Amino acid sequence: METGLDKLISALRDHSSEEKELVKKAYEFSKSAHEGQKRQSGEPYFNHCFATAMNLCELNMSGTVVAAGLLHDILEDAGTDSKTIEENFGSDIRFIVEGVTKLGLVKYHGTDRHNESMRKLFVAMSQDIRVLIVKLCDRLHNMETLSHVPEEKQERIARETLEIYAPIAYRLGIRKLSKKLEDLSFPFVYPSEYREIKDLVKEEYDRKQDMLEKFRKAVAKELGESNIRNFNIDYRVKGLYSLYKKYMRHNKELDKIYDMAAMRIILDKEEDCYKVLGVIHANYQPLPGRIKDYIAFPKQNGYQGLHTTVFTGDGNIVEVQIKTERMNKEAEFGIASHISYKSDFKKGRANQGLEWIKKIIPLSIIKSRTNSKENRDVPSWIRDLATYHNENKDKDDALTDIKNDFFSERIFVFTPKGDVIDLPVSSSAIDFAYSIHSDVGSHIGGVKINGKMRAIDTQLKNGDIVEIVVSKNAKPSRKWLDHAKTTFAKKQIKNSS
Ligand code: MN
Repeated sequence: METGLDKLISALRDHSSEEKELVKKAYEFSKSAHEGQKRQSGEPYFNHCFATAMNLCELNMSGTVVAAGLLHDILEDAGTDSKTIEENFGSDIRFIVEGVTKLGLVKYHGTDRHNESMRKLFVAMSQDIRVLIVKLCDRLHNMETLSHVPEEKQERIARETLEIYAPIAYRLGIRKLSKKLEDLSFPFVYPSEYREIKDLVKEEYDRKQDMLEKFRKAVAKELGESNIRNFNIDYRVKGLYSLYKKYMRHNKELDKIYDMAAMRIILDKEEDCYKVLGVIHANYQPLPGRIKDYIAFPKQNGYQGLHTTVFTGDGNIVEVQIKTERMNKEAEFGIASHISYKSDFKKGRANQGLEWIKKIIPLSIIKSRTNSKENRDVPSWIRDLATYHNENKDKDDALTDIKNDFFSERIFVFTPKGDVIDLPVSSSAIDFAYSIHSDVGSHIGGVKINGKMRAIDTQLKNGDIVEIVVSKNAKPSRKWLDHAKTTFAKKQIKNSS
């Protein structure tokens, strides 16, 4: 009988035997560390670690990353300490596991206002792209099993996935993952909208599948007649959530959504892509204004391919995407296809071919651990992130409304429970206290920043964990006005001192 370990090892395909050994060791280690623990579904907890590792294999991650995926919950849930991880698996895996654990503490309580900032904070906190990818694969399995989580928690987790994780996956170019995360979250976050669109397109989707199959056969025949060999054709209907967003933008007119059905033609060579475009246009009338050469002019995120939208002749309209195998892989797996088993990112393989990644993720994160990992200098990364201008004018991109200067005005700090509090730059612990609650502000007995007692007028930095020690007898002083930045805190101090 094939065991989980067999499955995992065979999913490692081209990895070296050392990598396989490492994964095997992590598998056994994690399995025994989680022994006896159960998921909310009643399944063994280890199943979740295993599923996370399998998701990482699908992205063709290195043995190091897959092993970290197996171990990602052992700090938090199995009480293993970091030192033990390092002794057994080295500092790299320790770093990734710690990073994933730390990211898990950030909780998003939907305030639309700052979604983009939360995404940036998330990326900045991860410090290393591998941490982010493990976290995304962890979240994918959590979303697949969300129905077992108590109902009152489902919506928050799904909303966080929809607003933070899925857009990050999209921006990293891991479209496949982004689409999965969106479609898994959608019914929990917008249940009635989900039902509406589902009922609306149910028959339409079935009909489109049939139509696409016919169209695929016809196109395959035409390509063959034009002496084009070695092609691969597949098709898809749009994910429900992205369809829903478009549907709302087009004033609920389904007919205006031309990429609801899309066909993809994959070829070996770039020159064949142009040949195929010629064959398609010779046989099918294209829609004007929808022919895009993203091979000569790649999108900002590096996406390449030829797009056209054609009338199929039987009253249907289909978007046709033509690309090479390499372009397709990059489109599906994005950044992940560059940090595959061959090159662990931190080994400095960020060469010219990866220019586009630098546009998405600042070099400081790609290089990550060149400085001490204890380095709390979050602001410089965030400044870098904020300089990323999203020039992608595609209206599909939900992320276009970035305020690039945002981080020059705001900082993000945490409560001990991991809630994010955002404040104007140069805010003090006094502002923090008032933003928690006016009663907390007016009874500040002391302040702990990152676990150490500090003066209450200490200016806060991005990423600080702040705890207010409340004292019944403490009361505000006029002097605090010099150290308060927020209008709310100032007003409260004036009123009560
Ligand atoms: Mn987990």
